[in-house]
Amino acid sequence: MKAAVWHGHRDVRIEEVNRPAASTGHVVVSVRYAGICGTDRHEYVGPNFIPVEKPHRLTGKTAPLIMGHEFSGVIDEVGEGVVGWKSGDRVTANGTLSCGQCEACRSGRYNVCSKLGFLGVSLNGAFAEYVEVEAARLFSIPDTVSLREAVLAEPLACGIHATKILGGVQGQDVIVTGPGIIGLGVFFAAKQDKARNIWVMGLGKERQSLVESGGGVYFDLNDGDPVRAVADWSEGRLADVAYECVGSQTALDGCVSMLKPGGKLMVMGVFEKPPLLRMNDFQEGERRLFTSQAHTDEIAEALKRIASGQIPAQRLITREITLDSLVRDGFEELLLHGDRHIKMIIDIGG
Ligand SMILES: [Zn+2]
Ligand SMILES: [Zn+2]
Repeated sequence: MKAAVWHGHRDVRIEEVNRPAASTGHVVVSVRYAGICGTDRHEYVGPNFIPVEKPHRLTGKTAPLIMGHEFSGVIDEVGEGVVGWKSGDRVTANGTLSCGQCEACRSGRYNVCSKLGFLGVSLNGAFAEYVEVEAARLFSIPDTVSLREAVLAEPLACGIHATKILGGVQGQDVIVTGPGIIGLGVFFAAKQDKARNIWVMGLGKERQSLVESGGGVYFDLNDGDPVRAVADWSEGRLADVAYECVGSQTALDGCVSMLKPGGKLMVMGVFEKPPLLRMNDFQEGERRLFTSQAHTDEIAEALKRIASGQIPAQRLITREITLDSLVRDGFEELLLHGDRHIKMIIDIGG
């Protein structure tokens, strides 16, 4: 089968490899669409999480590995011991790999397993014609959701999970920095949870109409001081919650400055450089710091929201490419014009 195999930084090769077989408790999915995640772009240029010398603590694998964890497709083969799934079922999956034994796993929080791994990072992933997945991580795609739309459920689940960790945002004034797929997923999750006001901050005007049609207020950071804007909008109260979905010092500082005393900061960005946190800003105002790691079973909820039209999935797909053009039209394009894209998907066609 054809697959996109990570060999090193800027060295992803489209190769012929063996098709996986379904081991006990697993299925093989014929992949129809796959999504390129921010983490895939990170792996492409580094620093990478794909193990190179030291084998992964859970899977024991090292590079070369097939990339990709966001996908949709159809079950092609069912392994021994799998109950409730059959060939032909339309599915997507949570790419989290967990040990099933540590305290976090035993309490259902497998997304923070002590040996946490990820499909496409710690084990062969979904940028391929077929992928092997643990049956326990599968989600059935509702009839009214297309395979093309379903590929978005995984990243959109992150916003639903983070909002749950905050204990909900109903009636609150919310800021979202970084209107990529994660930030927009947060926006839809906060809207669904009945936040009072949602202010989305980003560079440029590309996302303005999407945010406004979803009932939010968009602020282009080229247009002035976002802290002053939030102070104006909130009549000086500032925000109850700020979601940091960028992973930069500037965004982080901005979020803290826009939070009222007692406000909550939710950090979801992945930082390439360790950021500086001024703890006095938290302590003096009893502000609170939260983090969120992927999701557990919120993909089911994301699929429901796509089905009901609450999330306009088709509008979030900004480009479709093929596996053969993944490097040039996918990774290199994202490095050059990352801001232009919300979600780029690969039509694998399986
Ligand atoms: Zn992802
Ligand atoms: Zn575990």
